[in-house]
Amino acid sequence: MKAASERAAGESAPRIAMLGGTFDPVHLGHLRSAVELHEALGLDRVHMMPAARPPLRGEPRITPEERLSLLRLGIGDTPGLIADPRELEREGPSYSADTLAELRREFGPEARLVMALGHDAFLRLADWHAPERLFSLAHLVVVDRPDHEADLPGPLAELIDGREVETPAALMASPAGGLLRLRLPSRMAISATEVRRRLAEGRSVRYLLPEAVEERILSAGLYRR
Ligand code: ATP
Repeated sequence: MKAASERAAGESAPRIAMLGGTFDPVHLGHLRSAVELHEALGLDRVHMMPAARPPLRGEPRITPEERLSLLRLGIGDTPGLIADPRELEREGPSYSADTLAELRREFGPEARLVMALGHDAFLRLADWHAPERLFSLAHLVVVDRPDHEADLPGPLAELIDGREVETPAALMASPAGGLLRLRLPSRMAISATEVRRRLAEGRSVRYLLPEAVEERILSAGLYRR
């Protein structure tokens, strides 16, 4: 695979992915997926983006500022990953289409923009705000999760009809509009729900989270029952 700096002229458009989520809290499933996504698609950067008030789920357990600060700790100095607070700074609900429109303005019409999401989030895509608008702004990359393997519901199959490509190169040939399913080599069956449950029960979360994140959670007493 070529690094971003080695690509030939004509392939020089920025390659940017956003991985949105609640990150309540960030765990190694998120971080390992982001690193592998960065590598598999030859991306310049993966913007990990905490949602302020996720439209389709309950209130997160800790404040947006705490989620962002744990995410920053978790990313540390990992090359190619950044914690992007823009959805926390916006008023009202966080819609991914608005965020992608902002990234598109920032990086230009030729940029290869990717919205990455896990299979569980993908299964609910047809219920999102303006799902067809997402494809006019970005490609979708669906990351397999070993604990989430259900079939696609009908409206979702319709929404993605004719968009699927088989390889990262085919996806990166255009700025937006495609769908790629990625089976990453180190798939991890880790969920924030399980991490919160363990913390509430006073059980160990070692090796589910980066150590710095675990330390901060325990010292601040976050997610206790
Ligand atoms: P919760 O258990 O609270 O629902 P979660 O672990 O699914 O949380 P989110 O913050 O909701 O984490 O996830 C953000 C994005 O990362 C989603 O697109 C989700 O599908 C994806 N994701 C979460 N965990 C994994 C994992 N272990 N492997 C791959 N993708 C993941």
